[in-house]
Amino acid sequence: MVEHERFESFLESLPDCLPKHLVDLELENIKEGIPIIRKGGERLIRFMLELKKPVNILEVGTATGFSALFMLEFVCEKAKITTIERMEERVVKAEDNFKKYDKNGQITLIKGDAQDVLSELVANGNEYDFIFMDAAKGQYINFFENIKKLLSHGGILVTDNMLQEGRLLDSRYTVVRRERTIHQRMREYVNVLATDKELETMFLETGDGMAVSVKKLIRMED
Ligand code: SAM
Repeated sequence: MVEHERFESFLESLPDCLPKHLVDLELENIKEGIPIIRKGGERLIRFMLELKKPVNILEVGTATGFSALFMLEFVCEKAKITTIERMEERVVKAEDNFKKYDKNGQITLIKGDAQDVLSELVANGNEYDFIFMDAAKGQYINFFENIKKLLSHGGILVTDNMLQEGRLLDSRYTVVRRERTIHQRMREYVNVLATDKELETMFLETGDGMAVSVKKLIRMED
C-alpha cells in the first residue's frame, strides 16, 4: 500500500500548468500561513468542474480568494462563483485579488458568517450546481441542511478537510479533550453524508480528506 504522504508529495510534484498569478498567490498564502486547498484537492476540483461544467458555484470559506480564482480557470465564461468569508482582513485581501484577476466579474464575495449567509441564500431561493465547502470543520454539520437546500438535483458538493489530518479515524476514546467536540462533529457530519437519502457520497483520502457528494435526481416514482 502506498503511504498517503508519499502520494500527496507525488501529486505535488506533477506539473499543473497554472497561470502565474495563481502560482504566486498560492506561494504567498503558504508563506503567510493561510490555509488553502492542497494540490490533491486542486486536482479533484478541476476534474469535477470539467465533468460537471457548473454554472452556479458556491464556496463556503474564501480566505484570500485563491480557490475561487483557481475554480475560475476551469469554468465557462457564463459561470458565476459566490464565495463567503467572515474574517475582515481576508475579505479585504480577497476583494483586492478579485479586482486584479477576475476581469469579467464572475466572482461575488459575500462578507459574513456562513451560518447567516446560507440561510439568506436559501430564503432568496438560490440554487447551485457545485458547492465547495472549505470553512470551519466543526460547523459543517450546522451548515448541512441549508447546503442541501441550496444544492440543485444532480449538483455536486465537495467537502474539504474531512480527515482532520488523520484524527477523524482515531477512536473518540483516544482523542485529546480539546479536540473532542470537533472530532464528534466531524464524525456526525460523515455519518450524515454517508446516510442521507438525497445524497450519494464518496470519501477520498485526497488532500486532507475530501468527500464528493451528488444530490440525486428526482425519479418519477418519488
Ligand atoms: N477555500 C480557501 C482556499 O482554498 O483558498 C481556503 C479557505 S480556509 C481553509 C477557511 C476559511 O473559512 C477561513 O478563511 C475562515 O475565516 C473561513 N470561515 C470559517 N468559518 C466560517 C464561517 N462560519 N463563515 C464564513 N467564513 C468562515
